[in-house]
Amino acid sequence: MEKLYEQDPYLTAFTGTVLSCQQGKKGFDVVLDRTAFYPEGGGQPYDIGTLSGTRVLEVHERGGQVVHACKDALEVGAVVEGSIDWERRFDLMQNHSGEHIVSGIAHSKWGCDNVGFHMGSDLITIDLNIMLAEDQLKELEQDVNRYIMEDHPIVITFPSSEELETLEYRSKKALTGQVRIVSFPGADTCACCGTHVSTTGQIGLVKLLTVQKFREGVRIELVCGKRAFDYLNRALEQNRLVSNLLSAKIFETGSAVSRLLSENEALKARMMAMEEQHFAALATQHEGKGDVMVFEDGLAPDGVRRLCVAIMERCGGRCVCFSGKDSEGYKYAMGHKGGDLKELTKSLNQTLNGRGGGKPDFVQGSVNASQADIEAFFAAIP
Ligand SMILES: [Zn+2]
Repeated sequence: MEKLYEQDPYLTAFTGTVLSCQQGKKGFDVVLDRTAFYPEGGGQPYDIGTLSGTRVLEVHERGGQVVHACKDALEVGAVVEGSIDWERRFDLMQNHSGEHIVSGIAHSKWGCDNVGFHMGSDLITIDLNIMLAEDQLKELEQDVNRYIMEDHPIVITFPSSEELETLEYRSKKALTGQVRIVSFPGADTCACCGTHVSTTGQIGLVKLLTVQKFREGVRIELVCGKRAFDYLNRALEQNRLVSNLLSAKIFETGSAVSRLLSENEALKARMMAMEEQHFAALATQHEGKGDVMVFEDGLAPDGVRRLCVAIMERCGGRCVCFSGKDSEGYKYAMGHKGGDLKELTKSLNQTLNGRGGGKPDFVQGSVNASQADIEAFFAAIP
């Protein structure tokens, strides 16, 4: 069968004859005498598209045949018109070609091997078997993009087995049959059956996004081509939002956020100090009052705890503090110096749809009940 994508990766429409059509796992498995549909392989996902109007859902290579999983059956012997989803294919060509240049330059500069390659729907990842430092990755990204801008033509050859023996190339494995060599002159030479752009300028841009340690080397996340532009646009949009919200210049959003966080820390500290003063005043009010119940608006769970501790130290009995709203429920803290709140907590949680616990003399939690219900519960305790 003729693999048209190997001869011309820019071919988007073709005609072919249906050699076989069988019920498959996903629709019908169709084999043609020739196809421009790239089957999954070498890290590059399959093409999708149509065969005479029937949707091609997946394409896989099985036993040397390209099998198209089609939504509907096609008649054996019929001549069909194939059309591939070019937007998807060109995106895969840009990203696949970008990956070659990144892996090839990293290989020639530092001798690392690509030990894993995955093209996801958002990002692509490359696993290299050598640890690379931050500045090496910057250098790599610069070299790759310089090479792209130089707009080198990509050369595909099918060398003889004698020629292959002396040729230096990546993915040198015991390959059977005709080996297809893809050369990015000066950047990469690799055995590959995938589809690539014809000149590197068509990749446009390669952006390395994140790098993390992976086994003995690194996993690099990157995007190429239109994906890279879309990714950067989304990131810039977020930065523009932050810039507008903080009235900060576009290249000064980092320091503006940092300033905001410091201000927030200072406000938190000031609020904490004011809360402490307020709690101390409340504790004084409840001095020697015995069992006490307090509702206080707008406290975080830790504030409820600190208020309860402050009053408990002074009231001489059991102190219960609540903060919240009837519509959202209440956070609580309950303490009794030297007391045992186990049974009361159990009953409180049961009656008021609550949860929580702690030490025998101090518990914290929340209830899903109104202030009136809470007050009625405590009024009923002897
Ligand atoms: Zn390739």
